Amino acid sequence: MEKDIYEQMTDRIMLTGSKLIPELFRMVVNTAEAELLMAMPGTPEQLAEKTGRPVDAVEASCRELYHKGMAFKSFKGGILGYRMCRDMLQFHDGTILWPEAPRAYHDLWQRFMEEEWPAYARLAPLVFPKPVTRVIPVGEAIDAGNQQVLDADSADRIIENAQALAVTRCTCRLIAHKCDNPVEVCLQVDNAARYTMDRGTGREITKQEALDILRMCEEKGLVHVTMNRSHAGHFICNCCSCCCQILPLVISEGLKLVDPSRYQAEIDAERCVGCGTCVDRCHFHAIQPAAESREGAEVMQVLAEKCMGCGLCQITCPEDAISLKAVRPADFIPA
Ligand code: SF4
Ligand code: SF4
Ligand code: SF4
Repeated sequence: MEKDIYEQMTDRIMLTGSKLIPELFRMVVNTAEAELLMAMPGTPEQLAEKTGRPVDAVEASCRELYHKGMAFKSFKGGILGYRMCRDMLQFHDGTILWPEAPRAYHDLWQRFMEEEWPAYARLAPLVFPKPVTRVIPVGEAIDAGNQQVLDADSADRIIENAQALAVTRCTCRLIAHKCDNPVEVCLQVDNAARYTMDRGTGREITKQEALDILRMCEEKGLVHVTMNRSHAGHFICNCCSCCCQILPLVISEGLKLVDPSRYQAEIDAERCVGCGTCVDRCHFHAIQPAAESREGAEVMQVLAEKCMGCGLCQITCPEDAISLKAVRPADFIPA
């Protein structure tokens, strides 16, 4: 049987076989809009020719699809064109922030995340041997005096080097509602910031506001995650381990969906008093009692293979017993 237009769109974003993705597309776009998306990429004139529709009508539809987060602008040779969302992440992030998205749309996305996404996510490491995102440590956690800190290792430097900054709502927490962590905390940098401001989904912020958001997220125990590239930028997510589309699968199944930072926590057994604060702060279950404890205190140790180098344990240790050490070379981060 021939696939309908929504199933064809599902194939285009590489989620062939999904039952829920065609339903999600159906909730955002009508058949005419779906056909226009499938005719993309192109300028409005090219798309008008491909679809046999008037240019004015195509231009208006492209603007609406951009507003909905289904279409993205491109400026090849300085000429405005449109393309359809490329993959599940663009579809997810773009349309969940669609201002008119009904609650039922968010709920269906959450159903997809719980029922279908894990199976696709398990295939991701085969397609992307190097994860596209990476944890970055809490800046304060690294003793920069003793080791190299690259711009791509530092959330603060990504902010300091930014030309444009905006904050958007966290699309995972917006649909999952599993915790009461703050929602308006996804930091968008440079072109990503310009995109969200142009679309009206991002709020322009100053560098100081961005740094304040980072500090607030660190206090709440949210993990900084960014693009896994040596030229820093694009976004800084502040993830919880309950609503996030990635971290729960890293924690429960050990999937390589996000790289660790270049750092790893170490506990000084002489200083540790076994208060357990670090155990509570670590989303990755990377801290446990050491086999040999000091008399009078259950000393903790870090499980190197589980530590993602986020630094959240370090900044709250009351005894200053934790340090972050660089354990991966600079070229661990893809160019
Ligand atoms: S990846 Fe993290 S910060 Fe980004 S949208 Fe998901 S939970 Fe929110
Ligand atoms: S927070 Fe510090 S003192 Fe407390 S258990 Fe962890 S390492 Fe030890
Ligand atoms: S031990 Fe846990 S909290 Fe500490 S840096 Fe490693 S992953 Fe983060």
